Amino acid sequence: MHLSERHIAGLFPEEIGRQLADGEIPAYRTRQVFAWLHKHAAASFREMENLPRDLIARLEKAFHSVWPLELVTRRISTDGTEKYLFALRGGGAVETVLLPEEKRQTICISTQVGCAMNCSFCATGKGGFERNLSAGEIVAQVLFVQNRLKAEGKVLSNIVYMGMGEPLANYDAVLRSVRLINHPQGLDMGARRLTISTCGLAPQIRSLAEEGLQVNLAVSLHAADDHDRSAMMPINKVYPLEELLAACDYYTTQTNRRISYEYALISGINDGPEQARRLGELLRGRLCHVNLIPINPVGPEKRPSGQRIAQFARVLERAGIPVSIRKERGTDIEAACGQLRQRSLGGQANGRV
Ligand code: SF4
Repeated sequence: MHLSERHIAGLFPEEIGRQLADGEIPAYRTRQVFAWLHKHAAASFREMENLPRDLIARLEKAFHSVWPLELVTRRISTDGTEKYLFALRGGGAVETVLLPEEKRQTICISTQVGCAMNCSFCATGKGGFERNLSAGEIVAQVLFVQNRLKAEGKVLSNIVYMGMGEPLANYDAVLRSVRLINHPQGLDMGARRLTISTCGLAPQIRSLAEEGLQVNLAVSLHAADDHDRSAMMPINKVYPLEELLAACDYYTTQTNRRISYEYALISGINDGPEQARRLGELLRGRLCHVNLIPINPVGPEKRPSGQRIAQFARVLERAGIPVSIRKERGTDIEAACGQLRQRSLGGQANGRV
């Protein structure tokens, strides 16, 4: 069988043995290796103490390390938000953010080095697209942070695919990572605790609807009409709102999941009461929730005043649309996606939401 995934963090138990050039290993051993990697978030093969030494040596020879990435920087915000910048062994760098709360530990992971979608307000998009991450590179972000949390007796509770890149443009690797994270012998995290975001790739939303998974879908809208949305998000010229919302409705029908529509509020661009009214009209009668995200205050875009944000939310509420305003986190550590990488590469940050 041809397998494009090369790294052990991206392999299912039955695939691990097949990747060892010097012969198969018993199935119970591959299950042990998988559990060490995913359930216990081991940081090295040497930690796998119930494995024979020669098997550890073979794993080290075949895969070099348990994770195909290395930490470059970690920053911790005064509000507890942790931002990780990873160098990938296969080239490039990505960001991962941990959002610790009393009852939840949420991680935001990246799926591509850069992004081809070129949304006007996004630091990642400005840098262009380099490459897709493999499933192993996606899952390793989760395992690295889980390894760190383990020392504090904590476990990750939620995963959001909202870091660098457009997850649905890297469909196969993202789906493989979801199934690895779901795996009962590994992290065993239910799909309902995972959220995949998209800027609006309608055909892939339809495909995702047919996967038989219960993942949450977060769709970045940011505008309620095609004119405004195309100005902010070039993808809207390919899949305009009507086509996008038809795909979202299909997702809801197939999965019965409520869709979260993300709306980045930018002062003077999309934060007026008339735009709120149009958004309410657009979403009326849909099983949905609107997440208002005041944009991070870097670059030329400005965050609306608290009063203006509250007014926008009120208009939606009056239209019967459930709405919440995302709490600002980690602004002192460039927590908006793409900012830390941009700074580290010496570029100009603009601020992704
Ligand atoms: S907002 Fe998301 S989809 Fe748009 S350019 Fe940035 S990373 Fe890509």
